Amino acid sequence: MLHDLRLGVEFFAWLTEMDHKLAKWVAAGGCHYCGGRLHQGNYRRKPRGAKLAGAAEGFARRYSLCCGRRGCRRRTLPPSLRFLGRRVYVEAVVLIASVVALLLGGERPASDVMAVPVRTLKRWGTWWREIFPQSRTWQEVRALMVPSPAEALLPRSLYERIDQELARGGSARSPGDVCVTAARLLAPCTTLSLPDASRFVRRLLLERTPEQLTQKMA
Ligand SMILES: [Zn+2]
Repeated sequence: MLHDLRLGVEFFAWLTEMDHKLAKWVAAGGCHYCGGRLHQGNYRRKPRGAKLAGAAEGFARRYSLCCGRRGCRRRTLPPSLRFLGRRVYVEAVVLIASVVALLLGGERPASDVMAVPVRTLKRWGTWWREIFPQSRTWQEVRALMVPSPAEALLPRSLYERIDQELARGGSARSPGDVCVTAARLLAPCTTLSLPDASRFVRRLLLERTPEQLTQKMA
């Protein structure tokens, strides 16, 4: 099973490219606080991919922006398709390992398969089913997908609904394809520093078809 799920270098190279593009788009809008010019203030992270996505560990740069205006200098964190908040594991692992925990009926067997600690899987499960449903991102995802994924079965329900949508559109639907679509949907909640992240991300990402989105960018 794990063999089919594994996400390679190309997958993370592409997500990194998308993150770079997102950062450029955010930079073009200027500082949200003062309208000043935004400069790159990237930093390094130590992403973990567990057994599923070791390739992610080679892409450590978190794109970030800094206001250049004296007296402001505030940081703006663009949305990301790779990093879900401050979690050390990349988003694709947070999603797939949590789905596997539901499919296998518990964190213990999922931990054995994915090499993610049981307590980490439990924390993610709580986030998916208790914290994420309260977010604006979830309200938007629910409105976009009809029928909407069952809240009590998150994130498995989200994964399966995306898979159905991709199948209906005739798109490729490997775990990587599902993760890309999930990353687009979840992007607004990967940063708190852009109050209008939802609107922004929707405009840039959600209005594109999966085909357009998975095409290599020029
Ligand atoms: Zn500023």
